Amino acid sequence: KKSYNKISSKQSTITFQDIGGQDIAKKELLEALDFIKERDSIIKLGIRPLKGILLIGPPGTGKTLLAKAAANYIDSVFLATSGSEFIEMYAGVGAQRIRKLFETAYQSAKKEEKNNAVIFIDEIDVLAGRRGQHNSHLEYDQTLNQLLVEMDGIKIEDDVRILVIGATNRHDILDPAILRPGRFDRIVKVDLPDRDSRLHILKIHTKNKPLSDDVNLEKIAKETFGFSGAHLESLTNEAAILAMREKEELIHERHFYEAIDKVIMGEKLNRKPTK
Ligand code: ATP
Repeated sequence: KKSYNKISSKQSTITFQDIGGQDIAKKELLEALDFIKERDSIIKLGIRPLKGILLIGPPGTGKTLLAKAAANYIDSVFLATSGSEFIEMYAGVGAQRIRKLFETAYQSAKKEEKNNAVIFIDEIDVLAGRRGQHNSHLEYDQTLNQLLVEMDGIKIEDDVRILVIGATNRHDILDPAILRPGRFDRIVKVDLPDRDSRLHILKIHTKNKPLSDDVNLEKIAKETFGFSGAHLESLTNEAAILAMREKEELIHERHFYEAIDKVIMGEKLNRKPTK
């Protein structure tokens, strides 16, 4: 599991070419990002700036990658965090962390001499679930309120423009307040890859791996229905490890098939009752 304990900005090197499939999500994101680039016209015409984009879809489908590619595309610093990082027992701590996050985004952009900062919040449902429905509701509410305050405060004229990208696989539980105009205005669906997309992802992750002639990626793509991008990445990695154990110089078809079983087994063992 990813850890975001220390939030610091990074320059993303991921591009949209590194992401397999997700053609619709990419197209919608690019439209939104191109809009953001039209700063002068937006100011002249008095158009409301785009402050938030929500990526919705199952785990491991490339939401983090898309956010990183987006940051790269608009030449922006990138700060990644997760909704669960803001959940603390003590009142006010979560809200304070949100303030700090926006402040850090601003400062990092200044330091890197960038005009844009992307704040990525994975599992945003954890902090932006419907208000008043949590057990320790007060703390969650304050944290979410602070996020809304920060987003409402973003102005097109700001010297650093902050874009918040949220990701969730539970958009059904989101507080409607975060979806209001001027907050997360754009919703982009990120689905499990279809067969062609699986092939595309397999090609990306085997690009630097020595494959034997008996490996047919089309066939593997066909037989990995239901696999996410993360599953496919781990499949290619497992296959390479199996080849290494057998002291093979090339990865053979049998390694891929053994790896498919391993990924499926791993998934069964890891499956949690919730989420
Ligand atoms: P989560 O909801 O669990 O945070 P996510 O949707 O953000 O998942 P990522 O973190 O972007 O998923 O993906 C995890 C890893 O899986 C990536 O680092 C990459 O190796 C691989 N991956 C996922 N989707 C794709 C894709 N569409 N193309 C290429 N690789 C992918």
